[in-house]
Amino acid sequence: MTAEEVNYIISHYSDLLNLNEKRALKHHRSSLKLQDMPDGEIRRQLYLRNNWLTDDPEILNYLSEGYVQFIITTAENVLKNHPGKMFFNRCKICGKLARTPLANQCRFCGHDWH
Ligand SMILES: [Zn+2]
Repeated sequence: MTAEEVNYIISHYSDLLNLNEKRALKHHRSSLKLQDMPDGEIRRQLYLRNNWLTDDPEILNYLSEGYVQFIITTAENVLKNHPGKMFFNRCKICGKLARTPLANQCRFCGHDWH
């Protein structure tokens, strides 16, 4: 799977992630947000209480090999578990992946299928 396909799945089909994958993704995104904020420890506790962060080792294990490996594995799972719900919106001319499942124009060659 290409990096583009991985990002496409994570961006547009995140509802197909299983519950643990969703929690790991939310944890990662919340961690990034927290990095730039003052009062880190107070906010971290708040985030933990709201389940935006987790200290559950099972969830953290999803991210143990880094975020990139996590989204690759997760995208592969989505493709494997929901083949019928996934739509790769590819350009009929150049075959590359459009920006979104509903896009009507290729960002690479400019082909338009409105
Ligand atoms: Zn194209």
